[in-house]
Amino acid sequence: MERYFQPEIETMERSAIETHQLEKLKWQVKRVYENVQMYRERMDDAGVKPEDIKSLEDLSKLPFTTKQDLRDYYPFQLLAVPKRDIVRIQASSGTTGKQIVSGYTRADLDQWATGFARQLVAADGDNTSIVQVSYGYGLFTGGLGAHQGAEKVGAMVIPTSSGNTERQIRFMCDLGSTHLCCTPSYAMYLGETVKEMGVKNRLKLKAGIFGAEPWTEEMRKQIEEALGIKAHDVYGLTEIMGPGVSYECRVQQGMHICEDMFIPEIINPDTGEVLPPGSFGELVLSTITKEGQPLLRYRTRDLCTLDYSPCECGRTHVRMKKPAGRTDDMLIIRGVNVFPSQIEEVLLKNSIEVSPNYQIIIDRVNNTDTFDINVELSPKFNGDVESEKKKLETQLRSMLGIGAKVHLLRPKSIVRSEGKAKRVIDNRKLHD
Ligand code: ADP
Ligand code: ZN
Repeated sequence: MERYFQPEIETMERSAIETHQLEKLKWQVKRVYENVQMYRERMDDAGVKPEDIKSLEDLSKLPFTTKQDLRDYYPFQLLAVPKRDIVRIQASSGTTGKQIVSGYTRADLDQWATGFARQLVAADGDNTSIVQVSYGYGLFTGGLGAHQGAEKVGAMVIPTSSGNTERQIRFMCDLGSTHLCCTPSYAMYLGETVKEMGVKNRLKLKAGIFGAEPWTEEMRKQIEEALGIKAHDVYGLTEIMGPGVSYECRVQQGMHICEDMFIPEIINPDTGEVLPPGSFGELVLSTITKEGQPLLRYRTRDLCTLDYSPCECGRTHVRMKKPAGRTDDMLIIRGVNVFPSQIEEVLLKNSIEVSPNYQIIIDRVNNTDTFDINVELSPKFNGDVESEKKKLETQLRSMLGIGAKVHLLRPKSIVRSEGKAKRVIDNRKLHD
């Protein structure tokens, strides 16, 4: 039997979703026009008034919002409520450029908790679950986001935060954690450590909820195997809410976007044109119920597709495919577009010989880009290092369409991150 956190919302008919979205969109557009100078100016420039929003299609008349806007109007100029109504500030992890902040009202925090609660229940959680939150707590939305969601379900929460890995695992065994929430790269690391400690048979884990960074299906398999769990993908971003914007059900064919809170669109990142359903492009989100710092048509820079077909789980909210990468993740090396996820895919196919823990180092020498990839050998590796290196270089060249120099390193020699993995070191910037 499928369980839902809010069946009346999670399984709403499409027509009811659209009616709700239009009503909330009108409400939100009016609020931001009246309360946020940037939106008022942009809408005036575009010649759009709140009353011009008569259907969901009219959404495309509204201007986009970008991460740069959040920087330009830092820290409080995009608030649509008086500052005294803000009860929490979170900040982006600053993976790309200067940090941005987002302010939440009490009602915003409640909605965020609801988004994550839907995820926990979809991962078979309930008030008997023991949820270990190994996302970092603090400005990063992972820790507090998962925490509030699990509390909302009434689970027992263990707020270990990230780090101190052996202690985490001892707690996991002693307290019988049933659900683990952290970044997928930290889950991999926990998996490796569980193996070293030889305690897999003491784990009571059933499911994991992993997000905040891109990960591949191969990585999912490895985590599921290492920890003996079902691994769910969860998506979120500070600007919009934090983890729980969309969440994966047991079917694991994309993450259901909380459509009662957000309207998603897919656009061509180069032209801004809205693409038809099913197209691959940049995800744009409008927050239709958020009070504190509402954003209209926010360009997430995450590349994915939307799937409106019915899901076997019975949920009706649209599913987004796992983001393939970000528009700003893409590296241009010697004129060729390279996504780090492509490298990860190659390494995961060779998981007997190497670990998927890698680092890309790019530099510029004599006006030509150099492209090096440090990869760790797996502890089990006992083949010939030189031929392993050649094999990986050949596979990478055919995947990327450009040559890279592979350096095979001893197991565990690349620093493990407890938060988001840092995969790219681009030294070209130093020469600009
Ligand atoms: P930053 O932009 O500084 O990394 P955030 O911590 O808010 O700040 O990260 C949000 C971003 O993380 C998203 O825009 C997306 O690129 C990435 N992300 C979050 N969850 C996932 C996921 N499940 N799969 C892939 N990428 C994800
Ligand atoms: Zn589903």
